Amino acid sequence: MKITQVVCQILRIPQIIAKTASSQDAVLVRVRTDSGLEGVGEADSSPEVVKAIIDAPFSHNIACGLRQILVGQNPLESERLWQEMWRRTMYFGRSSVAITAMAAVDMALWDLKGKHFREPIHRLLGGKRFDRIPAYASILFGRDGRETAEIGRRWIGAGYRAVKFGWEPMGQSEANDIDLVRGARQGVGDDATLLIDAGCVWDARTALARARAFADFRIGWLEEPLLPDDVEGYVWLRDRSPVPIAAGEEECGRAAFRPLIDRRALDVYQVDLSRNGFTDACYVRSRVEEIGARLCNHCYTSPLTVAASLHWLSTCRDAFLFEDCVEDSPLRHELTHEKVQAVDGWIAVPDGPGLGVTLDEDFVARHLVSQSS
Ligand SMILES: [Mg+2]
Repeated sequence: MKITQVVCQILRIPQIIAKTASSQDAVLVRVRTDSGLEGVGEADSSPEVVKAIIDAPFSHNIACGLRQILVGQNPLESERLWQEMWRRTMYFGRSSVAITAMAAVDMALWDLKGKHFREPIHRLLGGKRFDRIPAYASILFGRDGRETAEIGRRWIGAGYRAVKFGWEPMGQSEANDIDLVRGARQGVGDDATLLIDAGCVWDARTALARARAFADFRIGWLEEPLLPDDVEGYVWLRDRSPVPIAAGEEECGRAAFRPLIDRRALDVYQVDLSRNGFTDACYVRSRVEEIGARLCNHCYTSPLTVAASLHWLSTCRDAFLFEDCVEDSPLRHELTHEKVQAVDGWIAVPDGPGLGVTLDEDFVARHLVSQSS
């Protein structure tokens, strides 16, 4: 089997609003082969930038677009192809968006591998430990505590036992921050798990003060309190915080996660499959399990990444919670024929070949804004 085509498609919903949510557009990478099989993957990044990294022509041996590297290769050799993509993009790559473009390709290669062997990806990764995982509804804060409480009631009413609120307007003032978390706890009730995602807004000393204040509302974790590169800040904070510290969604690839893991900087390492692919997500899984810390997925985009996250997380020893983005965007809910969403607070791991989901081609055609092949 040989790769014959690498098609990149950008989808976008008609009305884009300014918020910290990546479910308003998507970049799909479709790897086609001479056997007639196609694998599909996606990256969570700026779609046009990812597309440029796929489409770029050969410049020199270590500055080459991904399509040029992939066409003619055997798609089953995903580990070798990961290493080759890394080496041949070294001059512009090694981090961030080049790794996310590789992650989209890697997701597509694993989807292809599963379809080829007629097995779900979780089996090819070594075997799932869970058929279903408790899910938390992941959503943004309201404008204040009162609106946040209403949002919490909505998702508890939908059957979730855990809710996470994130990003704006956290970080404006101590009073405002505490009002948001108080409202969140009121909305979800006393028994639910409440998670708070600060959105990289404080220095370590302020974050510690907030962690102590939020502990009164029994939060399950405090996510991304600091800027992502402040590894020393995370080490300092985690040593002192009364609540668990989570982060990792900004990190693309093993080199980005390595200092956080080596320094024991976090309690919960959040891995985004559309920014790491299966290849580096499995590296992170092994390293984090080795140090006895916890793993969770990060996912705020389409059902392709939701499915990929389920295949990966179900193989982790301690899959205690799944991030289930509940944004109302049609890209989150309608891109595939299968609805990959929690029911009564639990989300099931797909069992079909590959990712176990199929694109709704009519939906793709209706939202397509750009395509390359
Ligand atoms: Mg987050």
